[in-house]
Amino acid sequence: MLLFKTSPALKKAISQYKSNKKKIGFVPTMGFLHEGHLSLIRAARKENDVVVSSLFVNPLQFGPKEDLKRYPRNFSRDKELLRLEGTDILYAPERADLYPEHFQTSVAVGPLSKVLCGLSRPTHFAGVATVVLKLLNLVQPNILYIGQKDFQQCRVLEQMITDLDLPVLVRRMPIIREKDGLAMSSRNSLLSPRERQEAVYLSRALAETEKAIQLGSRNGSQLKNSMKKALQKAVSGRLDYAEIVDSKTLLPVVTLKPGDRVLAAVAVYFSKTRLIDNVLVKVKS
Ligand code: AMP
Repeated sequence: MLLFKTSPALKKAISQYKSNKKKIGFVPTMGFLHEGHLSLIRAARKENDVVVSSLFVNPLQFGPKEDLKRYPRNFSRDKELLRLEGTDILYAPERADLYPEHFQTSVAVGPLSKVLCGLSRPTHFAGVATVVLKLLNLVQPNILYIGQKDFQQCRVLEQMITDLDLPVLVRRMPIIREKDGLAMSSRNSLLSPRERQEAVYLSRALAETEKAIQLGSRNGSQLKNSMKKALQKAVSGRLDYAEIVDSKTLLPVVTLKPGDRVLAAVAVYFSKTRLIDNVLVKVKS
């Protein structure tokens, strides 16, 4: 595996792959890798000639009071895990490589970024879109691999790729979970033992919601209220949101109709750590 810390070195390697018509799969990450990240690497390994991953804790996507400083990091372990999965290139830049002095441009993201996580993190998705656009320009992948765990991020990036005619396919990959159902996340390592136990109520609330929809519940606000109630079992958690939304627009669904694809999505704070999870449900006729 080649490790590049600067974009000129990365660009040089990419231009060689490009002139040899190699198919490039790309997996951007913020590191502290787990099986969720590795599932993306494995998917990229299966259908590309070259697998590129990036590791960068992007300051632009953290608000001033958020957890940029305490975000977990373990570069040597990450490097080894990526190497073992057969990653060809790891791009791990310093902040100044992506955002040199006088950097001042940002992607303006639209309504998809203003709901759900966007309400408590108003600058988050512009930060994500900006770094991913830069990374796509540097890596020039054929396929971008992203996780459904961050469903709203998927939608914002898919919309950016469509709106700006970016020549890349997107693979949205399923959520990888711990044995008890908790969605894997680098932030899980920041939970206390008690918070970790209670964090399981996110996936349980979502599973109950999915079941209720399958059994015929069609009232969005009733489903939402049941989810909120189920999340109260996480007594040390503080609810950010529990919503039933359309999976394309991310706007609330009042009445679920046959054939609809709805997203049940939740976010809960445990102390300063904010966990998110979701389930995508196709409403049966
Ligand atoms: P992050 O390092 O949190 O920015 O995540 C990097 C990529 O891994 C994003 O596309 C995430 O959606 C994806 N990802 C994170 N957690 C999971 C998970 N539990 N299952 C599948 N993909 C995930």
